[in-house]
Amino acid sequence: MTKLRLATRLLLDWYRTARRDLPWRRTRDPWHILVSEIMLQQTRVPVVIPYYERLLARYPGARELAAAPEPEFLALWSGLGYYARARNLQRAARIIAGRGCFPATYEEIRTLPGVGDYTAAAIASICHGLPYAVLDGNVLRVLARAFAEKGDIGSASVRVRLREQAQRLLDPRRPADFNQALMELGATVCTPKSPQCLLCPWRDHCAARSLGRELELPVKLRRRDPVRLAIQLLIVEKKGQVLLRQRGSAEPQMAGFWELPEARLLPSAVPGRLLGSFKHSITRHDYTVEVFSAAAVKAPRGYRWFAWTELDSIPLATMSRKAIACRP
Ligand code: SF4
Repeated sequence: MTKLRLATRLLLDWYRTARRDLPWRRTRDPWHILVSEIMLQQTRVPVVIPYYERLLARYPGARELAAAPEPEFLALWSGLGYYARARNLQRAARIIAGRGCFPATYEEIRTLPGVGDYTAAAIASICHGLPYAVLDGNVLRVLARAFAEKGDIGSASVRVRLREQAQRLLDPRRPADFNQALMELGATVCTPKSPQCLLCPWRDHCAARSLGRELELPVKLRRRDPVRLAIQLLIVEKKGQVLLRQRGSAEPQMAGFWELPEARLLPSAVPGRLLGSFKHSITRHDYTVEVFSAAAVKAPRGYRWFAWTELDSIPLATMSRKAIACRP
């Protein structure tokens, strides 16, 4: 694509009519945009919307989240997964509350916990009108196709090249619309498996389309195979209560969260009836989970009985929430 200005104008014209009405598109409040961007890392839009709305209803500003007890906040985040994001968001809230206002430059925003190049560029452009192009998975795919990029989009050199292309395309007078338009194009039209080229504002200029290579691009070299694991979770009940185990502070992920006991960690419990099974993925681990009922046992150290009605107010691991849904 050589006529960059034309491409930018076509994209912005398309976005004006095609944009989805999403809750975070109705605001330029940097706190709201930070919350949405952190939640959207690794999670799809329809899943994020109710969490975003609940979180801002409870913590309308950074000050409120900064002052919140961590277990209360993690309980609200429960089910969204990737809990390091939640902890980073609360750390960022404390920094913002401590300094009295949201940072106003790209460099300052980039220093907040959990904020990388992409999130800093999104906030800087959407909230402060600064000319920083974003580069997320959707943008990478669109640009790799539009410019028929032959290199692996996982490689640093290709990312640098595509970032430069995005920066050249960006309209410095409308960086917020430009960035959101490019992400929207990737999310709704130039999708991974079935790009809708006939609906695309770049259909007459896209290099991949003119070469008939839109389904071959972008090039993604083979990643490491996922690790497959099988586990058994136990639902141990007693008088309207369920036995849960708390993850210790030394555990690498989700310290402080509550979860159903694994059969191997509770040898005194004898598994009973199989209640169900499901698949669950965490980063590159693919779990096959079987859920069994089990007779009541004495709660060992680190375990506690909870009333079923209490589960919404504690940080409970997503896999355990899914397992509990197998209960008749
Ligand atoms: S023309 Fe097709 S492949 Fe090219 S950017 Fe548009 S949707 Fe993607």
